[in-house]
Amino acid sequence: MAEDGEPKGKEYVLEADAELRFEVENKNENVILTLKSGYAEIFGTELVRGKAYSFKTGAKIAVFTWQGCTLELGGECDCYIAKETPMMFYLNCHACLEQLRMKAENESDVKRGPITMIVGPSDVGKSTVCRILLNYAVRMGRTPVFVDLDVGQGAISIPGAIGALLVERPAAIGEGFSEQAPLVYNFGHTGIQKNTQLMNVLVGRLAEVVHERLQANKKANVSGVIINTCGWVKNDGYRLLKHAARAFEVDVVLVLDQEKLYNELSRDMPQFVKVVLLPKSGGVVERSKAYRAEARDDRIRHYFYGNKTPLHPHSFDVKWSDLKIYKIGAPPLPDSCMPLGMKAEDNMTKLVSVQPGPNLLHHILALSFAASPEDDIITSNIAGYICVTNVDVENQTLTVLSPQPRPLPDTVLLLCDLQFMDSH
Ligand code: ATP
Repeated sequence: MAEDGEPKGKEYVLEADAELRFEVENKNENVILTLKSGYAEIFGTELVRGKAYSFKTGAKIAVFTWQGCTLELGGECDCYIAKETPMMFYLNCHACLEQLRMKAENESDVKRGPITMIVGPSDVGKSTVCRILLNYAVRMGRTPVFVDLDVGQGAISIPGAIGALLVERPAAIGEGFSEQAPLVYNFGHTGIQKNTQLMNVLVGRLAEVVHERLQANKKANVSGVIINTCGWVKNDGYRLLKHAARAFEVDVVLVLDQEKLYNELSRDMPQFVKVVLLPKSGGVVERSKAYRAEARDDRIRHYFYGNKTPLHPHSFDVKWSDLKIYKIGAPPLPDSCMPLGMKAEDNMTKLVSVQPGPNLLHHILALSFAASPEDDIITSNIAGYICVTNVDVENQTLTVLSPQPRPLPDTVLLLCDLQFMDSH
């Protein structure tokens, strides 16, 4: 027992370049990690010695040390020490990116820092590598832009969104990067195969705005961009990757774990783009469909209710007649039924008016910055999300959960495929 009567955790001594990997699997478990001596980091964020970090069910963590350390772990979890990690490869990538940043800083003919895209199939650690590279950049005093094109988990805002974020501080352990004023575009589905045309348009628009913002922020411009992508790397998924690389004008593509993809990209990317194959970490855990669905729910709950810092969302009624709800993408028609000169895929980026009703229950609605359907709604970014928690047909009202108090701004609402059951 520790002095205060609390049960003490188990101690682990790590040599340099090793990592302690653990997964919290039991329901309602809370695992406490403390760095007792030495130095250690979690996905690039340094741990503070003596501070207790808590991890809840679902956490899959690696505590890495460059110098060696002693850790204490309390609570039930699956854990082991790994001596083989790809961290040296990732550090080398960071060092190369840092050199490009220095060139952008010091040489007048280099206009900006490196734009790097991380690609690979599902569950190879793409998001983790992005996080490590961003954290290392910030620890060098840089302010890179993080772009997330992975609608499956939605690291910026919620699943179904793509966006960009200026990273000024390392990610908080167990929380991620601080999301102040992110630039968000609504896709509305958690799989890009649902509407690849729309995704292409949104990626193009996001890239345009990111480039504009880099022009206006010299420090970010020198720091560059790190882009996370989704794990669909075949057929249309591959075409989307190429489109994103072109739109963002990437300089470096890091391919995790798939030689085939590496070969294809080396063949198809322009010569000036550096394509690098990187190994995946043996620690990356494959996630089941059920786990992913739960992680998505957690992400949305986090959006409305916060995590370690609790948020207090508002719940209020709005009249159907006060709402302008649309969805993007009309049901596909055969080409033969389309008006002259239009193709079936044009329908996928069409705006369709939605009548409020029971069909909206539990759905997420995006609040567009576009005020009316005459504006270019598809390429307008969004202010945030609300969730429909009740539909009253008799009184023709919806009850919504909203991060902001009433009234809702008088703008267009976009219906998402995504649903969330509010259990609070
Ligand atoms: P997706 O299929 O969603 O695109 P991905 O390729 O981005 O997945 P990550 O989300 O980075 O993969 O990693 C998958 C899981 O593995 C995450 O829960 C992450 O915390 C965990 N993970 C990553 N690296 C390690 C490691 N070295 N040790 C233990 N767990 C790890």
